[in-house]
Amino acid sequence: MLFDDQDFQETIASVLVPVAVPKAYTYKVPPGQSVVPGTIVRVPLGPREVVGAVWDIEPDAAINPKKLKSITRVYDQTPPLDEDLRRFVDWVANWTLGAPGMVLRMVLRSEEALEPEPPVPGVRRVEGAEPERQTSARRRVLETMEDGFAWTRSGLAHAAGVSPSVIDGLIQQNVLEVVSMPAAPPPPKPQLDYARKKLTDAQEAVAAGLVSTFEKGTGVTLIDGVTGSGKTEVYFEAIAEALRREKQALVLLPEIALTEQFLRRYEQRFGVYPAEWHSEITPKNRARVWRGVASGDVRVVIGARSSLFLPFRELGLIIVDEEHDAAFKQDDRVPYSARDMAVVRGHISGFPVVLASATPSVESHVNAEIGRYTLYELPERASGAALPDLQAIDMRLDGPERGRWLAPRLVHAIKDTFAAGDQSLLFLNRRGYAPLTLCRTCGHRFQCAHCSAWLVEHRFQKRLVCHHCGHFEPVPDNCPSCQSANSLVACGPGVERVAEEVSDLFPQARTLVLSSDLPGGPERLKREMKIVEEGGADIIIGTQLVAKGHNFPKMKLVGVIDADLGLAHGDPRAAEKTFQLLAQVTGRAGRVTGGGRGLLQTYNADHPVIKGLLSGDKHAFYQAEIEARRVAGLPPFGRLAAVVVSGPDKIFAEGYARALARAAPPDEAVTLLGPAEAALAMVRGRHRYRLLTMAPRQFDLQSYLRRWLNQGPKPTKGLRVQIDIDPQHFM
Ligand code: ADP
Ligand code: ZN
Ligand code: ZN
Repeated sequence: MLFDDQDFQETIASVLVPVAVPKAYTYKVPPGQSVVPGTIVRVPLGPREVVGAVWDIEPDAAINPKKLKSITRVYDQTPPLDEDLRRFVDWVANWTLGAPGMVLRMVLRSEEALEPEPPVPGVRRVEGAEPERQTSARRRVLETMEDGFAWTRSGLAHAAGVSPSVIDGLIQQNVLEVVSMPAAPPPPKPQLDYARKKLTDAQEAVAAGLVSTFEKGTGVTLIDGVTGSGKTEVYFEAIAEALRREKQALVLLPEIALTEQFLRRYEQRFGVYPAEWHSEITPKNRARVWRGVASGDVRVVIGARSSLFLPFRELGLIIVDEEHDAAFKQDDRVPYSARDMAVVRGHISGFPVVLASATPSVESHVNAEIGRYTLYELPERASGAALPDLQAIDMRLDGPERGRWLAPRLVHAIKDTFAAGDQSLLFLNRRGYAPLTLCRTCGHRFQCAHCSAWLVEHRFQKRLVCHHCGHFEPVPDNCPSCQSANSLVACGPGVERVAEEVSDLFPQARTLVLSSDLPGGPERLKREMKIVEEGGADIIIGTQLVAKGHNFPKMKLVGVIDADLGLAHGDPRAAEKTFQLLAQVTGRAGRVTGGGRGLLQTYNADHPVIKGLLSGDKHAFYQAEIEARRVAGLPPFGRLAAVVVSGPDKIFAEGYARALARAAPPDEAVTLLGPAEAALAMVRGRHRYRLLTMAPRQFDLQSYLRRWLNQGPKPTKGLRVQIDIDPQHFM
């Protein structure tokens, strides 16, 4: 049979590759291979090969295929990325002004996942074969294998309680045969009614509301419930509903340290563990979760913000817990807000999204107010326990003596709490021993050589550390500037220094510092969180890590060492963020049994944030804050975008930032501020200048920025321009 010319016509595909270019590149599809939009492929890119995804099939590209490179590999064992996910990638790129390939990169986070996991050797009983001589060890092995399934050698030895040599002996005698078995069986399915807690009437009403949103398909629900009101128990019912509808569910948490407790609670409710996705999981598990999510074997994922980009086969629910948390904002590469993008993903695919917090963001409050989100409130704790009694300690009047950080009233309260056998938490959002070290003789201050930041003394590690670039150096014996010996003094407290004072005051108490940077990493943290949960520590000194989500049943007192710390930031959300953080952390007190107390050390007892916290009238605080934002045209009533210029040369970076500002297209709707030297003027040797644009809510700020950057001078000589839509961090 003769072939028509048509049959030899080559297919041309545009492939999105994981690099920062604005568009997909075109490639030839090798003969005999078929691809569709979403197919994951390998393509040559300059001197290397990269994994990308087919974004489109060019119907009649006016390109000479001879000039095109060919796709080198089609991953046909992996399902193509579906249309919803591709639309989501494009949407995020368009919104953030990021390169679509860089967004895709967040989807293709595990190259290992694209190949099936190689089978592992296992052993199986040879039917009818008996060992030459029966021993009790051998009998145990054969009994363990009665179900007829294959086992791994070590798994079998462990299960039967014998040494692996017993198994080897049975293989030699041909009683067992070596077979290859799948590396990981599919994870067990969650059991919807495994152990459903009896919900309170208030919780039941919210759960019913969440379940009803599935009828509508899409929609965002905000659960505004005080700490301990049982938001988790309630949204578990939404997860159960998604599973009942044969959909997958995703729970986003702001902090990996929270997952441990969450995993256990989930297991208690559904009888199995959910899959985890965050930076700490091993490449092998990462690949398994990715594959399982794509195949549908994994039904529920709990993860950090990046799990939003997993290739779910049939995602039907996203829950964003602690939705107000700034950790949901990614600042580098593609700056995006996982909370906001979760709402977008739900909208694209038509499924419900649930936001939960004891202190929702002003944005979500306003969205609830104008009816865009459905609001449910849980104003009481599930246990019926009262919310903690909060009081301020005015440091101007009742502060500690010089060189001490705990006011006498706080010390007294810790003493009473300790005497009663309960736990105290001292909260200070500052890692290390002291935020600044200086020389008493010459005034020399220890600063990072690469960043405009003081070096923070970490006494446990005997180092001075830069919290921005990670640079560290040993604490010297002599001042590097004037050579005086014993002249260095620590200024201000970090958690380690507070811990020192606590040990001094309460030598009998078991104290524990919880901070993300202590040796031992996440494993240690998990262990320590558990110790606290089980009552194995009396006084805990912690950074914001302890503020989030955790349930510490024995905790009765929360002392905030410096309630003013966040207020000084030049950030339009400084008040909101401080309120949220302090409400969260004091909310750790007396969650289960009540009788909790919170003491806030402050020099600004009259500040609206402090007053709002003490009055217990959260609504009044939010109303005032919302009004202030409305008047100032700040988010969510206006839109902000930051443009950060950075470069190795200070003069050059500043000059470019000015030229860029001059090139901004005039538009009445847009206010342009800056350029100004960033609060963190230098990071990792790069000098930084910030421009800020403000516009009314309806204004298409993205189009404006695109126009501006297209027309404006192009960055050269190592300059970088980073756009941050709706910035959260103003450093
Ligand atoms: P939130 O997430 O709102 O802070 P949690 O869901 O963590 O609250 O609940 C706080 C504590 O109360 C947990 O220990 C939880 O198991 C318990 N709890 C919540 N609801 C119930 C309920 N209906 N019955 C029994 N215990 C509950
Ligand atoms: Zn000196
Ligand atoms: Zn540094």
